[in-house]
Formats: sequence, structure tokens, C-alpha cells
Amino acid sequence: MAGSMMSIVILADIEGSSGCTDREGARWLTRDWIAACREMTFDVRAVVVALQALGIAPITVVDFHRTGFNLFSELLPPGIRLRQGYRLRPIPGLGRPPEAGRAFFLGMHAAAGTEGFLAHTLTSRFRRLTVNGRPLAEVELFAGSLGAWGIRPTFFSGCPVACDQAAARISGLAVHPVPSRPMTKAAREEWRHSLAEAASRAAIKHEAPPPYRPTGPFHVQFRWKTHPEGAQAGREEETAFSTNSFADLYWRLLRQAYFPSVPPGWLPLALRAHAVMGRAGLALARRRWDRTGDPR
Ligand SMILES: [Zn+2]
Repeated sequence: MAGSMMSIVILADIEGSSGCTDREGARWLTRDWIAACREMTFDVRAVVVALQALGIAPITVVDFHRTGFNLFSELLPPGIRLRQGYRLRPIPGLGRPPEAGRAFFLGMHAAAGTEGFLAHTLTSRFRRLTVNGRPLAEVELFAGSLGAWGIRPTFFSGCPVACDQAAARISGLAVHPVPSRPMTKAAREEWRHSLAEAASRAAIKHEAPPPYRPTGPFHVQFRWKTHPEGAQAGREEETAFSTNSFADLYWRLLRQAYFPSVPPGWLPLALRAHAVMGRAGLALARRRWDRTGDPR
């Protein structure tokens, strides 16, 4: 039992990581994105190295931004389990449950329709998304889906607004905000060090919050942009639904956010195509970086 508590899964996003300075940094294949991927990798590496020094194993790292391919695996310490690309079941996004007692969330952002750096929930097409009248943050969905497998949400990092929201929803969650960006290289190094220390403290703390298991009924309301960014000036639609099941809540939002027009039978194929694209994008990023030492 003690062994299983000393195993950690890290979900890593980019918007709240140290090298994402604006919207371009979160946008696939931009030069800013390539730079942000490097810094995101170094953020994750700093935390992993600190956790490994405490003897924590296994450590599973899940690449959780956009295509699911942002981390440069060759820059991460050996011995970790890295998951890139998304899986459908049983845990949406992750697939099979990781061998982990605790969950850490790095590089996260605030909920759709709230202040906060690049705030959104699942997709920027949700202009606003509330459950029982409160803005819904992604960490609630992630922590809730891991909570069903007994994994305890323990540590969270992102912009200050994201940290406040996460701490308010999940009591006992340790949070460590990222300052406003851009940061100088020295400031980034210093912050990364503080991040690794805060993560270590959370890992060895005796008490972790209980698994997060929100209970229904859930009354969901969202305002949805009918056309993606950049397409024709989009209309916005209000939609609402209710459910008693957290898993159903999460699934319906995922379908709306990512595959509104894909028939369910096609989802595995759509995910596979998405992964091929993601892998190719990261390979391109790596090549561009290797050639210039800098994507700019
Ligand atoms: Zn993201």
C-alpha cells in the first residue's frame, strides 16, 4: 500500500508552463510553440528529477496539450513512463489507469469564461462553461476521472487564477503558481527550482487529498462558438444538459469539444489520425530546433 502511494502520474499541459508567453505559444507548429515545448519539457524534467531523488517510482508522464505530442522525450530523464497521444478508454485521454497513488497537474490554465492566462476548458470554442452555476475547470474533469480509480489529486501548477480555482474546487490540493510571462532565462530557472521543491513537498506530505469524486446531479450550461477560430465570424449558441453521472458529463463535453461531427464508431480512427499528425508535428519541431538551436 505504501508503495502505491509513492507512485505518481503527471499530467502536463502547456498554457501554464514557464515558456508559454502568449496564444502563439499554445498554437501547434508555430515557432513560439516549439520554444514553449522545450521549456515545458524542462519544467516536467525538473519535477521528475526531484521526485526520482525521493525514490518515487513509477512516474508516468502524460503529454496533455492539443495533439498530445509536445514533450521532447529525449530531454526527459530515463526510467519514466511517457504517454503521448490520446486514448479513449477507460480513462478519457489516458487510456488504461496509470500505476499511481497521486496525480500532479503541471502547466494548467483557468476555466473557460474566467480571467486567467489563456483560460479555456477543453477548447476555446466553449466561450463559457458552467456546472451547477460554477465555471468548470479542466482539472476537475481530469481529477474526477482519475479519482474513479482511487488516484489522489495532490499538486497543481498554472497561472495564479488557475491555481485559485483548483484550490477552491479540490480541498487540500497543493498549488504553485507560475508568474506572468515572458520570464528571463534566469527567472525561469529559479522558478523551475521552486516548482520542483513545491512538488517534492507535496509528494512526501503524509496526507494527500482523497480521490476527487464529484457527485451529481450536474446541470451543465455552455455557450459554444459554432465556427472554429479563424473561420467565418461565428455565431454563438447556448446549450444545456443535465446528468447524474460524472463519466457521462465528461464524455458529452469531450464529444462536443473535439468530435462534434464524428460518429462514435469512427472515434478510434480519428484519434489514430490525430496521433500521426501530432507525432509528425513534434518531429518537425525537433528537426527545426536541432538545425538552428532556436526555432526563431
Ligand atoms: Zn493546453
